[in-house]
Amino acid sequence: MPAILLSTADLSKFAELGLAPALLDAIADTGYTTPTPIQSKAIPLVLGGGDLLAAAQTGTGKTAGFTLPLLQRLSENNKGRAQPGKPRCLILTPTRELAAQIAESVKTYGKHLPLKSLVVFGGVNINPQRMAMRKPVDILIATPGRLLDLVGQNIVNLSSIDILVLDEADRMLDMGFIHDIKKVLKLLPKQKQSLLFSATFSDDIRKLAHSLLNQPQEVSVTPRNTASELVEQVVHMVDKSRKRELLSKLIQQHAWPQVLVFTKTKHGANRLAEQLGKDGIEALAIHGNKSQAARTKALAKFKDGSLQVLVATDIAARGIDIEDLPNVVNYELPHVSEDYVHRIGRTGRAGATGQAVSLVNVDEVKLLKGIEKLIGKNIPRVDIEGFTGHTEALGSTVVERKPRPPRKRKPNGAQSGNRQSGNAASGNSKAQSKRSSNRRRKAS
Ligand code: AMP
Repeated sequence: MPAILLSTADLSKFAELGLAPALLDAIADTGYTTPTPIQSKAIPLVLGGGDLLAAAQTGTGKTAGFTLPLLQRLSENNKGRAQPGKPRCLILTPTRELAAQIAESVKTYGKHLPLKSLVVFGGVNINPQRMAMRKPVDILIATPGRLLDLVGQNIVNLSSIDILVLDEADRMLDMGFIHDIKKVLKLLPKQKQSLLFSATFSDDIRKLAHSLLNQPQEVSVTPRNTASELVEQVVHMVDKSRKRELLSKLIQQHAWPQVLVFTKTKHGANRLAEQLGKDGIEALAIHGNKSQAARTKALAKFKDGSLQVLVATDIAARGIDIEDLPNVVNYELPHVSEDYVHRIGRTGRAGATGQAVSLVNVDEVKLLKGIEKLIGKNIPRVDIEGFTGHTEALGSTVVERKPRPPRKRKPNGAQSGNRQSGNAASGNSKAQSKRSSNRRRKAS
């Protein structure tokens, strides 16, 4: 078949990285011709067997950057048949969407290799996953919570892991998975190859990397905390009460074919999708409260181009991989500045250009300043006649929460002094952190 000739003729740059013919053939089928910078740097290092600490955001081609070499290493070190429930490679990732996308990549790049892969994530019935784990598996892609559930039920055994990948490690920590990750790490053999990918490097990520990685090589493809150069960013200052109207106008006026719109809350995402529908713009919302089936359906429609607008919260949109997505809109700015970088990383991927539009009201100016500080540049303010400028006063759009009634003390804590109440507080905060971690686990 010409595919083999094509792969050697056109893929010399991939071949130079040391990739085997079976992988080059799979790459030829995808149509890629040149490795992205993270692939050029990471592939030879991973093939060499060392640990890796990589700074790369979604959209840089990082998934192929770790998947291609790990497939090769696993197929070269294939000591025997894969065993049920006992994978040799574990890829941990924060969300189900990302897990599903990585699983797809593993299948795509590994299609000419005799390796078996499986994906497990929460929010869906565990039983089909239990059944699937009865078949031999080489590569397991998992979200942390569901993985631990399966380990707890003796369905998965992690004692044969040769290669571990922590993907989007920063996001896993943001989502409160640190305790789950630590539990998983304890179940792995000491001797293994570990790869850690993160878009940003907080002190916590460095700490995790230090505890996990053995003399890692470091690679970085975007300077820390900078937004993709290929994304044109603009801000429209607009009253909160007129954001929806402006968004409809922008979508219609520019005839944007595909827009991913970010809101802060699940409720806000639903409401906006509904309102856009009333304006004659087909929109669907995805967030943690939607069923997995509804999320998958909305995402599939968006990916195949039959849905114009997808409204999403940060967690639900995490790692959504849509090629050549031209427009991202921040309907509301995120509270965490790093999320802005993640959001606009949906566009301007792997060389394509994109536009990120932020609708900012007077109460979000502080958040905007934080984002500009993080990315190290000012985002141009662009006026739109009849919309921009403010009539709302500072603080008028902030929803005030009712103050909570004071907590009742437990009777046995009533007589405790300062020292004891300190202990109680730390106990509470532990319980709170566990509860919030559980909540997040459910959300993913
Ligand atoms: P990722 O950063 O892994 O989410 O990948 C972002 C997008 O880049 C995906 O849609 C990949 O299919 C695409 N991609 C990965 N590697 C290449 C490559 N070498 N050339 C062109 N596109 C690529």
